Amino acid sequence: MSTSDLLLLGIVSFVLIDFSVGMVLDYLNERQKEQPLSAEGAEIFNPEEYAKSMAYGTAKYRFEMLTNVIGTVVILAAIILGWFVWLDAQLRDRFSNNLLITVLFIGILIVISTVTNLPSSYYSTFVIEEKFGFNKSTKKLFFQDSVKQFLISLALGLPVIYAVAWIYQELQNQFWIVAWVLFVVISLFMFIYGTRIFLPMFNKLKPLPDGELRSAVEDYCQTQGFPLSKLYEMDASKRSTKLNAFFSGMGKVKIIGLYDTLIEKLTVEETVAVLAHEVGHYKRKHVYTMFIFSNVQTLVILALMGWLLGNPNLSKALGSDTPSFHLSMLAFFLLFTPVSTVLGLINNSFSRHNEYQADQYSIDTYPGAREHMHDALKKLSRESLSNLNPHPVYVAVHYSHPPILERLANLKQV
Ligand SMILES: [Zn+2]
Repeated sequence: MSTSDLLLLGIVSFVLIDFSVGMVLDYLNERQKEQPLSAEGAEIFNPEEYAKSMAYGTAKYRFEMLTNVIGTVVILAAIILGWFVWLDAQLRDRFSNNLLITVLFIGILIVISTVTNLPSSYYSTFVIEEKFGFNKSTKKLFFQDSVKQFLISLALGLPVIYAVAWIYQELQNQFWIVAWVLFVVISLFMFIYGTRIFLPMFNKLKPLPDGELRSAVEDYCQTQGFPLSKLYEMDASKRSTKLNAFFSGMGKVKIIGLYDTLIEKLTVEETVAVLAHEVGHYKRKHVYTMFIFSNVQTLVILALMGWLLGNPNLSKALGSDTPSFHLSMLAFFLLFTPVSTVLGLINNSFSRHNEYQADQYSIDTYPGAREHMHDALKKLSRESLSNLNPHPVYVAVHYSHPPILERLANLKQV
């Protein structure tokens, strides 16, 4: 067996293993959730709401299975039937500039994946979310959002691809060091300005209006040295009824956003407790650690790419005798699937740990936060029909936040 055949076998196996593991996890999670309502669970849901939460989980599970099967069949067909190589050959017939070919190749893949994802995203919004009463988005807003997301991914993705392909063309195996510096600069920019630039394209952010909540928030922020000018209310209610809050930014450019749905459904004290949790993310430097961690990961990935991309067998594994940057990169990322699964596990575990720290911060800095946070989280879960009994392995792989009952139990202890 030649090296390229072996690589192809590796790629196909990894796609199949990834698919199978995903399906088994989904199945375990689906089975795990069917349990009688516990005493802790009864603090969140009445029996009717609990049944509804399980039905919501099942609807999402079935749809996930279907999209997984279709997605895997398509990617396997593209690999085995040589669709990627065909596209590459078509571009080579028409253009001679390698960088242009790479940018067009990736651009076409972005177009195809956007178009093919549209039906599933439409179904999920207007059938599943609609059925369970979450959806507030109109068809017009949905298509506006989709077009904006598409244009943003082209506007950000293609120049970066061009730059990296150019660096690779100039430096070959040594490209990874320079490419890493470029990624550090880009990710620094995105960590600092990403939300500030892109969120207003989708949502209106306005300073928290005067009133009882603002006064309570002002009092809290003063004790924490957090500038109130960075606090916004976001019109999330135009898309969904679900509640949330977030922290984003670095250094002087930082914002905390509260969904209008959260402000509407939570009491003043509960809202301040949630806000204190978000301030906790900032004070405990979670953004910095995430930033460093993600850049270390990028460094490892790029170093591996520097080592492997020059090998013509990567492009050959997908069926092309003409080695190219984009085909080799595609083969690399397909082979990289197991490593990215492990990285995902580490990232999520880290993120869940940070959530506990931020809860702790809220309790330590806002009097009564233990009860208020408790009540706020219960409302958040009720309003989003959270799964009370996710499977532990599913949690490890997919959850960036601790499961609700574990988080509530932790709040009682700390
Ligand atoms: Zn958090």
